[in-house]
Amino acid sequence: MKGSFSVTVDLEDWYHIPSVCGSPYAVYRDVNEFFEKWKGEYDFLTEPTMRVLDLLDEFNVTATFFVVADTIEHYPGLIESVVERGHELACHGLHHDCKIDPATKKQLMSSTEFEQRTVLAKKMLEKISGEKIVGYRAPNAMVGGWMLDSLEQIGFKYDSSVSVNSLYNKTDSALKTVSSIPYYPVENGLETGYDRNFIEFPWAYYQNLLKIPACGGPILRFLGAPLVLNGLIQSLKRGHTIFYFHSLDISCAKFPSVGNRRPFYWCLKGKLIEQRIRYILNNLDGIEKICLRDYPGL
Ligand SMILES: [Zn+2]
Repeated sequence: MKGSFSVTVDLEDWYHIPSVCGSPYAVYRDVNEFFEKWKGEYDFLTEPTMRVLDLLDEFNVTATFFVVADTIEHYPGLIESVVERGHELACHGLHHDCKIDPATKKQLMSSTEFEQRTVLAKKMLEKISGEKIVGYRAPNAMVGGWMLDSLEQIGFKYDSSVSVNSLYNKTDSALKTVSSIPYYPVENGLETGYDRNFIEFPWAYYQNLLKIPACGGPILRFLGAPLVLNGLIQSLKRGHTIFYFHSLDISCAKFPSVGNRRPFYWCLKGKLIEQRIRYILNNLDGIEKICLRDYPGL
């Protein structure tokens, strides 16, 4: 295997998903409305995140945490703990809202509004980390080429949202010329382009007759660890590879049953998924691990 490997963790809570907040079919318009109306317990994030930090220490991994910036306000001390343990903070949106419509892939906000919100999130994360924030991951992996141009414009160096596979496409592009290794995207698009001051770290896929997504996240929950591991191993033969999961994936708590359209989204999680993450990290133990902020050329 020639590639190195980056472990990434998406840090968001149960209500950030599009069936609850921040999409055209959400129960609450956005996280602000959720906090105005929700009277129950909301913090299902702190406990599994602390376990993720212990797990990463156990495997001696410095990870990149893609953080929804509004968690800084609602979980005092939590993001500070991630920073104290030496991990990179990167941006996973201000409130985890969809930026493109899941059905039509049309822009749900102007580039200017996207840039204003993302600059605010970047500043919040920089204040808490004391470091420049250079990485971004689109909430729900709903990404458009115009977003990468905006990100470069406001000082980001990389994005890690593009998933090329045969099962779904959450982007506004046909993704004809994208592999699972880092590349320079064309302007105003997501296809492979040429040298520029911005890198896309796409997600791994497992190539057989189809391209099966194999980067982690929901695929790790629903399709299991051997498939994801095989996809990561295949991707490592192509080059640098990304693995990701959510800290919520290992939560053993029962989340509030609120949400439209995705009733089974969290039906598999907890200890089983923690075992799958361990299985993958154990099997890739000998591979060089690079925290994304240290990727050569960034
Ligand atoms: Zn997310």
